[in-house]
Amino acid sequence: MSSLDARLGVLRGTAAPIPHNARTLAALTANPSCERRSLLDAAGIDKDALAAHLDLPRPLRKSQLALDYGIAFERQVTAQAGAPLVPLLRQALSLSVPEVSYEDVNSVGSDDDTSPLRLRRVHTRSRIRRAAHGRSDPRTLLDHPVLRLTVAGHQAYLEPDVIAFQREGVFYVVEIKSFPVIHGQPDPIKATAALTQAAAYVLALRELLAEDGLPPERVSDTVVLVNPRNFTRHPTATPFSAHKQIKNLSRHLGRLRRLPELLDKVPPDTTFDLAPGPDQKPTRPRGELVAALATVRPNYTPGCRHHCDLAFHCRTEARNQGKPAALGTAVRDDLAGIDTIATALALTDGHLHPSRSQKDLTQALRHAQRIHADLQTDTA
Ligand code: SF4
Repeated sequence: MSSLDARLGVLRGTAAPIPHNARTLAALTANPSCERRSLLDAAGIDKDALAAHLDLPRPLRKSQLALDYGIAFERQVTAQAGAPLVPLLRQALSLSVPEVSYEDVNSVGSDDDTSPLRLRRVHTRSRIRRAAHGRSDPRTLLDHPVLRLTVAGHQAYLEPDVIAFQREGVFYVVEIKSFPVIHGQPDPIKATAALTQAAAYVLALRELLAEDGLPPERVSDTVVLVNPRNFTRHPTATPFSAHKQIKNLSRHLGRLRRLPELLDKVPPDTTFDLAPGPDQKPTRPRGELVAALATVRPNYTPGCRHHCDLAFHCRTEARNQGKPAALGTAVRDDLAGIDTIATALALTDGHLHPSRSQKDLTQALRHAQRIHADLQTDTA
């Protein structure tokens, strides 16, 4: 085990690591400046469990009904060794797909295995390499492959609910999603989120093939989304270009702060361990956990509630500290260079003398205050 892994293990404590998934990667890129999230995700810490222990609302929790529906739809599409998928792919990619060889990588290893994720990654790599080199029995449909992607200089495992499909030497990422496509149109926000997630798998597959010196073009920018059609449970497959999402994600990943740098800023004995008791319930005093979280710099924005389990904790913290971001990204950006709302107010009403770099902003704030005062006079 490397010293980096050992250090991340201390942060995580006794809990098993949670691997990155496309959702966490998409979230990282949604808020790349958040060191707190970067570190928690790199250590594989269960943020939902932290939020539950802190008794916070959990904005990302899906209803059991929605989860069950998603699982049932995925099972329906991949039933009979992926047979329902073949005609959909043939139609979506205008390819002849006469026969397929299907394998569910989930079935590799066992629950008793101490490292099933690594084992499945090794298996995935061997299968994809064989397919890429056109060796005998190349698997054309590989369900639940385990991939690896370099995130902030660290190798993160990805366990996607996707299928890697190879045809004529090119791999395609096929993602099954339970939101509907109505009259050929999916919800644009959901489709973009799905393509951003798929972009992570495209990059991970490219990384894998690059180990063999194979070019990135061997993994297509075209991603196939399989969704329920209209208001039925009948699946339909639609090809989308994920070129933009792949480019964006690649750029964001390249910008993420390196892990060793982040770890250097955290006191060495910091841990987010929930210290489960014999009944598996956390015993860690909440105050200690809050203090541990405070050792890593957040970057709260109201958008956090769409992608991070800790959003309500970070929002309260930002409000208590009077951070401009608590009022929204527009206010934060407008007040760039001013740390707190109290400072902005003090500059506006003249209680604080602006530094040279704050002069323009102070003028703008005072101008806004005058307009506000005039409007109040007019409406009085
Ligand atoms: S909620 Fe907190 S930890 Fe999560 S991304 Fe936002 S600032 Fe970072």
